[in-house]
Amino acid sequence: MSSSIENINKLIKSKLIGGYESNIDWILTDSRSVCFPEETLFFALKTKRNDGHKYIDELFEKGVRNFVVSTLPEKKDNYPNCNFLLVNDTLKALQLLAEKHRENFQIPVIGITGSNGKTIVKEWLYQLLNENYVITRSPRSYNSQIGVPLSVWMMNENTELGIFEAGISEMGEMEELRNIIRPTIGILTNIGGAHQENFFSMQEKCMEKLSLFKDCDVIVYNGDNELISSSVLKSLFTSREIAWSTKDNERPLFIESIDKGDNSTTITYRYIGMPGKYTIPFIDDASIENSIHCVSIALYFMIPQDVIAARMEKLEHIAMRLEVKEGKSGCVLINDSYNSDLASLDIALDFMSRRSDDKGKKRTLILSDMFQTGQSSKLLYRQVAELVHSRGIDKIIGVGDDIQAASSRFDVEKYFFQNTQQLIESEMLQSLKNEVVLIKGSRNFHFEEISDLLELKVHETILEINLNAIVDNLNYYRNKLKPETKLVCMVKAFAYGAGSFEISKTLQDHRVDYLAVAVADEGSELRKAGITSSIMIMNPELSAFKTMFDYRLEPEVYSFNLLEELIKAAEKEGVTNFPIHIKLDTGMHRLGFIPEEIPELIRRLKSQNAVIPRSVFSHLVGSDSDQFDSFTKRQIETFEKASTELQDAFSHKIIRHICNTAGIERFPGAQFDMCRLGLGLYGVDPYTNKILHNVSTLKTTILQIHDVPKEETVGYSRKGKLNRDSRIAAIPIGYADGVDRHLGNGNAYCLVNGQKAYYVGNICMDVCMIDVTDIDCKEGDKVEIFGDNLPVTLLAEKLGTIPYEILTSVSNRVKRVYYHD
Ligand SMILES: *Cc1c(COP(=O)(O)O)cnc(C)c1O
Repeated sequence: MSSSIENINKLIKSKLIGGYESNIDWILTDSRSVCFPEETLFFALKTKRNDGHKYIDELFEKGVRNFVVSTLPEKKDNYPNCNFLLVNDTLKALQLLAEKHRENFQIPVIGITGSNGKTIVKEWLYQLLNENYVITRSPRSYNSQIGVPLSVWMMNENTELGIFEAGISEMGEMEELRNIIRPTIGILTNIGGAHQENFFSMQEKCMEKLSLFKDCDVIVYNGDNELISSSVLKSLFTSREIAWSTKDNERPLFIESIDKGDNSTTITYRYIGMPGKYTIPFIDDASIENSIHCVSIALYFMIPQDVIAARMEKLEHIAMRLEVKEGKSGCVLINDSYNSDLASLDIALDFMSRRSDDKGKKRTLILSDMFQTGQSSKLLYRQVAELVHSRGIDKIIGVGDDIQAASSRFDVEKYFFQNTQQLIESEMLQSLKNEVVLIKGSRNFHFEEISDLLELKVHETILEINLNAIVDNLNYYRNKLKPETKLVCMVKAFAYGAGSFEISKTLQDHRVDYLAVAVADEGSELRKAGITSSIMIMNPELSAFKTMFDYRLEPEVYSFNLLEELIKAAEKEGVTNFPIHIKLDTGMHRLGFIPEEIPELIRRLKSQNAVIPRSVFSHLVGSDSDQFDSFTKRQIETFEKASTELQDAFSHKIIRHICNTAGIERFPGAQFDMCRLGLGLYGVDPYTNKILHNVSTLKTTILQIHDVPKEETVGYSRKGKLNRDSRIAAIPIGYADGVDRHLGNGNAYCLVNGQKAYYVGNICMDVCMIDVTDIDCKEGDKVEIFGDNLPVTLLAEKLGTIPYEILTSVSNRVKRVYYHD
């Protein structure tokens, strides 16, 4: 819906500076996502870590002319023809705009909150109701203080039903979200982790979530959950309730039975006395609960029971991830089967364009007919074409009659096919080479067949890397830093096994101050792949100074010998003021200048101008253990003194840093100017050994299953002697992939369909065997070696080693697969 800038100025009660005529269609909060600059209004949000005002220049260059700010730029004349809307708080202004926008709609709006399942319930409701209503819903899981206003802003004159998620992380946040969503129907999916000992705070949390529903006509929740039921009672709502129950037949929706089959579940119910039943193609408990929430709403909307049942049977799994995979012939595949509408296409294209440094690869979009209720096909494909052009797509492969009919709108290399089969039978897919390919299709086009054909399948063993978890861990530690403290992220050793490029790219997108690698080649690889962040080299080789100068890789310097060689090389190349990082030895006794050498070091540094100290640092020996706390404090004191001595000798600022992950957590007073984050970024808290947000999951699949009688042996040297008749599965992963031989012979287990399967016999080079006698499984089933459900710290304990070693041992031949939620 477009709105004039004057109108928006009135709505958000700002002061308009400029007054140029402008119509706004797009609201932007993340400067990197700009797409239609002329019609965009940018909200310069201030977060604890970042400040949107910093990006006004960059956006102006790209053509944005409308900004909501809390401070005006110093030189306003540098921004001709711009409108600045001045407010006290830009986030509040964004929320206020969404609130005012919401007031235009007298339609049912569903608000969904709870600890898990919000996005699934939202998407399933969409699948169940979109033939009855034109629906506007939150894209993906836009449910935050920023995501909710952006979602609600998407409602337009065609919208007949809104479905929005609300997620909170702190007390007090829900009120703002309620004012924006103003739901008429509420769903509380569930409340996670109800432990008796913090019941009090759990109830508080539950009440806070429920406050979303204060003015709802009806609320839906699990009446069997005592915490939720008692919280609803306490909340004193006057709204109607659909509390469903499997036990209490007085409840409005009584679930009589839940019958799980092999691949589907049938649920029999009574809704205000009326009997009914439906079947869903899922058997897990979460899906069953989610489906009950959905059926409650469908019944409330008086959708006929047979229609509900027919649609329930067709519910689809929600792929919440944008998967990035290696494709054949040098292609990179981005698989997005989330949904096929404009909003999700825009997000996927944005994701793709941010990977712009995929080494000069051509950008290709494979797109099916789209489905967008309430919009003419003409308008829809005009918008699709605009997106395709502005997001820099080089080639489009369209599948379906509608998109084919709109072919003339696309001004890039283009090919069209009537259906998926026709595309597969053509030569088109084989002809893709060195391209980034975004695959996005409506469900009924079955694009999974296309991705299947394009995907490179070398080895069935993969290491899955959750890039969102990396960001969550990053933010977890950032929140422990003072706002001005800088951060180095350690991406050495192939980013602790997770893969240097993708991790560095993600960190660069989140604007970390430095990346650190071990050797120069790791750094130059990152540069060649397009990483522009500052990079520090922790173990600079004497033979690689040229590489460092060429790629601006800043070396650590720990000895006079190294310093002399470096100065010599720099002078020879005519390099001046090359930044270096001085390492001090405060107790590790590995590498570094000792404090007594500082006067000499200062003299040497001052007598040349080839290199310049950018930072000075030291490394803690035992920050992850209480028993060394007094030693750690001594190290910090020594560092304080020695680094001050160095700083005092120079007029420019020298960044000081000593804390690693455990140091950040345990010695907040020792942040100095910067910290170095390693293991924590990859999800392991080195102090508690707990997993924060799990990043890496090592997975494989069962190759073959044998029934092996008692007394037989399994594997080399007859080590795996069976003392019962057993089912033995072989999996394609061995010590050459990084599975330590000491895990064999029953010392540890992996997970097959969530159950423990112990290793039998010796682990071989490329294969190992596991006992699946008591596990319901078949060939082709997934096996987890460590990860989401089996913490890497547990294996480390079994092996008497540290998680660092296990993470960095996963061999390079194991394919890394990256995904975003
Ligand atoms: C690897 C490394 C770190 C990171 O340590 P973590 O314990 O993984 O946080 C920090 N500083 C230096 C010098 C390192 O080599």
